This record gives sequence, C-alpha cells and structure tokens, in this order.
Amino acid sequence: MQNNSFAALTGLLCGCLCLGVSCHADSPVGYTDTPIIPGQKWHVHDPNRPQPKIVTPAETFSHGAGAPSDATVLFDGKDLSKWQHSNGSPARWKVQNGYFEVAPKTGNIQTKEEFQDFQLHVEFASPEVVKGNSQGRGNSGIFLLGQYEVQVLDCYQNITYPDGQLGALYGQYPPLANPAKKPGEWQSYDVIFEAPRWDTNGNLIKKAAVTVIVNGVVLQHRREFLGPCRHRENTSYDGVKSSRGPIALQDHGDLVRFRNIWIRPLGEIDKP
Ligand code: MG
Repeated sequence: MQNNSFAALTGLLCGCLCLGVSCHADSPVGYTDTPIIPGQKWHVHDPNRPQPKIVTPAETFSHGAGAPSDATVLFDGKDLSKWQHSNGSPARWKVQNGYFEVAPKTGNIQTKEEFQDFQLHVEFASPEVVKGNSQGRGNSGIFLLGQYEVQVLDCYQNITYPDGQLGALYGQYPPLANPAKKPGEWQSYDVIFEAPRWDTNGNLIKKAAVTVIVNGVVLQHRREFLGPCRHRENTSYDGVKSSRGPIALQDHGDLVRFRNIWIRPLGEIDKP
C-alpha cells in the first residue's frame, strides 16, 4: 500500500498525456515532482492545493432544450457530421438515443469548423458505471481551439488534484467550486472563450481567456490561460500563433456521453 502511495505521489503510475489512451484504474491524486506554476505557489497537479468547495446544483436548469436561433448546432442528437477524428478521418464515437459516447482508443474528435471568440454549450454525463479513481474516472475534456483544455471529469465523490477537476484549466487553475452531479446524470457545461491575439510583429497582446459555468455554477470567470494545456509541465505561448481552431473532445478511455452541443460567435456591440 505504501509503495502504491509513493508511486502515486511521484507520478510513476501515470506519466502519460493520456490523449486517446486508456488509463489505468488506479490513478494518482496528484504530483509533487512537477514544476511550480508561474505566479502561483503550487506544483502542476499539486494534490495539496485546497480542494474546491462542493456545491449541490439545483435540480433543474436550462438544458436539453435546443439552441438559440443564431447558433451553429454542432450536435443535434443525430450524427457526427460536424465532427472528425483529429487526424481528419471520420469520427468514430458512438451515436445513440440522442447522445454520443466516447469510443475508447479511437482518439479525440474535433469540429470540422474553426472558431475564434465564442459561447459554447455542451451537455455531458459521466459513466453510470463507476470505474477507476482520480483522473482515471469519467475523464474527457473540451479543448478550445484544439489546445486549451477545460476539464471534464467525474468529480462526484472523487478526489483528484484541484487543477485537474471538472471545470479546471487543466494543469493551470482549479475551478472555484465543485458542482458535479452524480454519474449518469446530465450536466450542463457553458463556456465563453476569447482567443489569444498577436500583433503584426508576432508579439502576444492578449492571452486566451475563459469563463466556465457548469450546472449553473460559475467555475471560472474570465480566467487567462498560461498557454496551451500540458500534463505535468508548465506551459507558455512560445511557438503558438493561432487565434482560431476547432473544438475538440478528449478520448481518455472513459465512456463519457455528450449531447446538445452548440456554439455562437461572440460578436461585437454596435455591429449587430
Ligand atoms: Mg481531460
């Protein structure tokens, strides 16, 4: 047991980026052999960082009811025609009963269309059959522009490192609260995203920023990404130049379900 704990803390059990890879059932609850996050006092994936408070969301909220009239519907319950595998081949996740489900080991899927600044609505359900722990339980993720991950995880009575929880900016910032519903229950996930910008000389003039509301609870409020998301590493905007990209969903090997996905460009005032 002690060996397991030691291995967990030193990250020997999980060194993988876990993109499209089935993860082990016994996942570590954090790492202390990782670098300190710039501007913070915590290690990347620090298990000792304070756990976000648990908030029980309201029984009902606005979801499952379609999209606003000007939204681009990315999934209406029927097919994955707006999606593709991240290598460009057809998406192979399973569509049934108005939702789609991760098909483990088939890889991440992403929208064919690219976006910049937007409002995104997603609904998800963690696997009803609970399996694994920490990051090995109900793990997926929403990759904004394909590289800024806001985490999807079954955080109902499941301890993991705070910067990897539901609604975290993965490896960067924990969510403000933990409003997870029970496995199998549908949950709403709303994102307002502002893409990063560079000037004509290639200097970063605006970092990516995100607001996240899960089950009606604000988890991030215009939080700036430190750079594209990494596992066990610090990040930066070095080498990044893109202000547009797809919405990608992570195949972490768990049977996470999604439905009612739509997106709206943010638009500008005085330019209706
Ligand atoms: Mg994830």
